Amino acid sequence: MQKVGQEDSTNHPTYECEKCQDKEGYIVRGEDGREYWRFCECREQKKTKRMFKSSQITEEFQKLGFRNFITENRPKCVVDAYETAQDYLKYFDRFRNERKNSIALLGNPGCGKTHLLMAVSNNLMRKGVGVLYFTWVDLLNELKDDFDLLHEKVQRMQKVDVLFIDDLFKGRKEPTPFQLEQLFAIVNYRYLNHLPIMISSERDIDQICEIDEAIGSRIYEMCRDYTVLLQGSRKELNYRLREAN
Ligand SMILES: [Zn+2]
Repeated sequence: MQKVGQEDSTNHPTYECEKCQDKEGYIVRGEDGREYWRFCECREQKKTKRMFKSSQITEEFQKLGFRNFITENRPKCVVDAYETAQDYLKYFDRFRNERKNSIALLGNPGCGKTHLLMAVSNNLMRKGVGVLYFTWVDLLNELKDDFDLLHEKVQRMQKVDVLFIDDLFKGRKEPTPFQLEQLFAIVNYRYLNHLPIMISSERDIDQICEIDEAIGSRIYEMCRDYTVLLQGSRKELNYRLREAN
């Protein structure tokens, strides 16, 4: 017999699913005597697992949900962001193929922007929607030098069900014209083909447009129905800061 699973110490192959021996299905004989292929119950679970893996979302971030986001005693804009993210998830199927199908949480750091968009991502993946996650810094690294792989990487970011860019345009270092060109190719493709983007950024739409108007204006249009600007004094807004005091 061909061993598909990993071997344990006794040299017997072990499977995540004993029933189908990780083939995600098995043959059954029907009443007519013919053999049929039946998908195993583990198939959906494995699909979700693969989806989480390909999203590049770490295990720690996979635990972030709406349930562990605290809204109590927090400023109104944080509660707004929480409700906007929840609504976005709730109505996602209705607008996902339209132009205005994206979400942007913008403004001061420490408000839980990443947490909320992670909660959306994790829930979307459980529904079978693919997500690809990048921090801005990682994205910049992806979009440079390695020309052999660049086309493939850009294509993946263009075509995935949902692209999540965390901390867009963070940092003082300006992106190079080449990196902006690649980012435009990604955003514009998704804009034209009605594919959603999720954006968190410390910059507001005007500031994003100052860096690149073509990118900013498309993000603005796509995220128009689901944009929250988190503003206020740092101490009032910043949860991490308050907790430390
Ligand atoms: Zn199975």
